[in-house]
Amino acid sequence: MAPNLPLWQGYPFRDAFRRRLGLATVMENDANAAVWGVYAVELKRRPRSLIGVTLGTGVGGGLVMDGRLQRGVTGSAGEIGHTQVAFPGEPCSCGSRGCLEAYAGTRAILRAARRLLRARPRAGRVLRGLCPDPKDLTPKVLKIAADRGDRIAREVWERAGAALAIGLTNAVLLTNPEALVLMGGVSRAGHWILDPIRRVFRSRPYGTALRAVSLRCAADPNCGCVGAALLAWEERSCRR
Ligand SMILES: [Zn+2]
Repeated sequence: MAPNLPLWQGYPFRDAFRRRLGLATVMENDANAAVWGVYAVELKRRPRSLIGVTLGTGVGGGLVMDGRLQRGVTGSAGEIGHTQVAFPGEPCSCGSRGCLEAYAGTRAILRAARRLLRARPRAGRVLRGLCPDPKDLTPKVLKIAADRGDRIAREVWERAGAALAIGLTNAVLLTNPEALVLMGGVSRAGHWILDPIRRVFRSRPYGTALRAVSLRCAADPNCGCVGAALLAWEERSCRR
């Protein structure tokens, strides 16, 4: 199941690779691989538990509990992007409605920016200067515009952060992890995306778990590749 890669839905990767390459193949969800990369390399396996969230076209997630990557029964543990943050909510790429991805994924963020620019063009002066054609908008441009004081860009990050905060609050209350790491292109927005989440975490009266969690953005943009390589390496070492 890959909502953002519909042509690959149900494709038997493992068998195909084994046949063509003659090698044992490890299959892993990209978010799980990224979480493992951050956990093993960036955090040096120090926290006992971690939630990682990848913010890109899709919103993915992975869970490490007691030092082990959690996969669940069907390999979909930690799929935070398709947990519901609104009811009934915006349509999502997965066919459902109200999913976190429909509010905090790149497509949703850019759609919100274009809608706000159309409604209040004067408030987005800096953004329009940086990117005259709204079709060319990217999260990177939105970050630069926010840095330069653009009100639309700041509002877009505030809204995406607020939606993320709902999904992350639920995930943290459910698992009480030591660390929470944001990864992927959208996490490059740094404090623009972290601040609204921190505000929500601090404001919840029932918040022991929310105040205990260390929240940050991943430093290494390649943590997914690193994690995938590590998982394959670890699996091979286990077999010997
Ligand atoms: Zn969804």
